[in-house]
Amino acid sequence: MVARITSWTAKKLSYAGRAQLIQTVLFSIQAYWSQLFAIPSKVLNTIEAYCRSYLWSGTNTITRKALLAWEKVCTPKSVGGLGLINMRLWNRAAITKASWDIEHKCDRLWIRWLHAYYIKNQQFCLMAIPQQAGWMVRKLFEARDTLPLIQYNTVGSLIKQIYLQLMGNNEKISWKTLRFGNNARPKAQFIVWLQMQGRLLTVDRIASWAVNVDHECKLCNSQGETRNHIFMECPYSVKVWEGVLKWMKVPSFRTTKWEQLEKWIIQKTKGKSQKAQVFKMTYTEWVHTIWIERNQHRFEERSRSAEQLVREIAYVCHIRAPTRIKEMVRQFVVS
Ligand SMILES: [Zn+2]
Repeated sequence: MVARITSWTAKKLSYAGRAQLIQTVLFSIQAYWSQLFAIPSKVLNTIEAYCRSYLWSGTNTITRKALLAWEKVCTPKSVGGLGLINMRLWNRAAITKASWDIEHKCDRLWIRWLHAYYIKNQQFCLMAIPQQAGWMVRKLFEARDTLPLIQYNTVGSLIKQIYLQLMGNNEKISWKTLRFGNNARPKAQFIVWLQMQGRLLTVDRIASWAVNVDHECKLCNSQGETRNHIFMECPYSVKVWEGVLKWMKVPSFRTTKWEQLEKWIIQKTKGKSQKAQVFKMTYTEWVHTIWIERNQHRFEERSRSAEQLVREIAYVCHIRAPTRIKEMVRQFVVS
């Protein structure tokens, strides 16, 4: 696996591209799991550390840098994660399934015997089993406690059912409308994912653990840089956003309260209408374009005019729009 990550680091990828690669690796490990039922936690920790470091730093060495806890990254999209597999939970689910198999369909007598023996005299039984096998057997029997808690369905993979139930009911994010059916580029969606959760690395957040940072917003050179400033108050990015809204013929909306902006976005992206679909895509591309522009101002001292950015966003949306909304997008003209 490390070799695979090493070969990827040669290529320069966006966050979204890296997340995609990690997804494929985790899927292949997951497939392997259905044959072998448990992976020791030491191995799991290592896999996780590599995946985490690769996502946030793009390197093949283990780092501690992360913009969001890995536990959170490994939750479904609807509750605010990236939809990666939580391997710890998957492992528990696999063990629980193996335990279920023994209870329900194992015809190998020695396992049944061991099982019965274990229940009668747990301590003694564990001593009698060689240490390495003991680890697996112990896990297997521990999982018996979980069995009554799971509801089974004859349809679909059992491990997956157990996995979902172990994950529990995470609260759905209010802005999930933005996350589904969004035609913006994956890398733009990734930035919005961070932005909506307040996890973009803006200066106010850097300042909490580093000294000597320039607090000023480089887009307008007038106020301190925070997420709320960049996406609601900054005259430069507001000008771009108003340009985009004018382009899509949506009345503008000004606020200085994040909750209100969020409410407005949710309202605009709800449902399956073409309008909602266009709004999702443009909002996402706007956030991404502003963030990239911010990085260029800050780190490369390059800058473009607000009009240029509006044109770029319109251009990207023209290309990305699927057939269903292509006609609508085509009617918009940048003024
Ligand atoms: Zn500003």
